Amino acid sequence: MTVPGSLLIKGGMVYDHDGDVHRPARADIRVEQGRIAEIGPNLVASPGAETIDAAGHLVMPGLINAHYHSHDVLCRGLFEELPLEMWLLYTLPMGGNRSKEEVRARTLVGALECLRAGITCVQDMLGLVPFAEDYVDTVLEAYRDAGIRTVFSPMVSDIPALGMVRNKEALPPAVQEMIGNKALPIDLQLDFLAAQIGRYPAGDRLHWAVAPFAPQRATPKLLEGCAALAEKHDLGIYTHVYETRGQALIARELFSAFGGSFIDYMAACGLLGPRLNIVHSVWISRAEMDRMAAADAGIVLNHLSNMKLKSGIAPVVDLRESGVRLGLGCDNCSGSDVQNMFQAMKLFCLFAAVSEPEPGPGLAHEALRHATLGNARTARLGQELGAIRPGYRADLVLIDMADIGWLPFNSAARQLVYTETGRGVDTVIVEGRVVIRERKCTTIDEAALRREVEGLMRHFSADYAAVVESRKAALPHMREAHARVWSTPLDLQRFIPRTR
Ligand SMILES: [Zn+2]
Repeated sequence: MTVPGSLLIKGGMVYDHDGDVHRPARADIRVEQGRIAEIGPNLVASPGAETIDAAGHLVMPGLINAHYHSHDVLCRGLFEELPLEMWLLYTLPMGGNRSKEEVRARTLVGALECLRAGITCVQDMLGLVPFAEDYVDTVLEAYRDAGIRTVFSPMVSDIPALGMVRNKEALPPAVQEMIGNKALPIDLQLDFLAAQIGRYPAGDRLHWAVAPFAPQRATPKLLEGCAALAEKHDLGIYTHVYETRGQALIARELFSAFGGSFIDYMAACGLLGPRLNIVHSVWISRAEMDRMAAADAGIVLNHLSNMKLKSGIAPVVDLRESGVRLGLGCDNCSGSDVQNMFQAMKLFCLFAAVSEPEPGPGLAHEALRHATLGNARTARLGQELGAIRPGYRADLVLIDMADIGWLPFNSAARQLVYTETGRGVDTVIVEGRVVIRERKCTTIDEAALRREVEGLMRHFSADYAAVVESRKAALPHMREAHARVWSTPLDLQRFIPRTR
């Protein structure tokens, strides 16, 4: 009889953020009741524990995807690279008002993609449409069945989606309506969230967070309500900030009472502090980074979607120098096409070259830290997740070093970040439970899911074709809104050249 959540993982090379990140030492890991109990040589399995032979494997902390939206997983591969203003026309309708069968299937597909890529925890900033309990049930049951850890945060906003577009008044009324010019009442949304947290208390593999969509889509009253909810339940807060150049212009033009800064606006609403994580920050100023760092607020970078949606490159070197807390995410499948933290880590390191032509500083082990411990901190789980340490939750990934990407083996940190694609992910453990074993999912019938999604796609594809047709007249207006953003001057110095 095996005891659930008890394992002995024998003979792997165990990645330690604080040890030799290039040549990690071999050790056994004893897991009891879903937590790491002991790490060391020649450990003995406790009665009922399953033994996993990790010889020839690198054991790393499970990767955490700190920014993701499960609502448009089925959109992957639908778009070429497309500016955000135009992308909104298509992705917004395809994420909402879908059948519960489709919602379950898309949640499972995203969860399995994450797990297969060594992501043991995903932060789902869900666009929940409709705002209804049975849809929450559907999503959380799918996550439970997949066995992935989830930081769940349905998004709230009391300013309509149109608030994402600069100079929205210039759009014809029909286009304004298409983007979205209605929002739900504040109390309805916050009371609903509080009720869901009560119905599904955090614990085991479920965690909650609060997600006001973006400062330009939230009145002070909503942000104050979000801050209070997060305080009451000790939750992290995630919100989209400075994703595009247009959003920086919106800050300058509509938030002049707050110095033209979203950071100042959020500070005035009580949001700026260790709970806050702003997502993207492509167009943040150095002074704002410093302010974030001083408040121990965090920034979650999403280079994959920022490039796909033509938003630009977040200034990696400036962010690093400011000392601000950093995390990494993969963002929507409609805007990045993939849930793969190996790609996110690699881009983080490579984009440093945009402002740093000199060698170094050696970012691979930092990227690994951001994708694990840094991302755990965004959800206020930094003492429980993101490292292989006694007392931490046993979310672990075994990388098969027989994969060609590990021949020859020169550095664990560098090859994880620059070489590994996810192909070497062999075994994935969440809370002491093996959910991927020898590359096969133990929790969900992948073949059945494939058949189901193929059936669902008949409706989905027909609906998408209808959306494309209905957006034809609006497209030139959004293209023009995008062009105006780029022809308007913006007072922002980015990619500050190094001085030596
Ligand atoms: Zn997002």
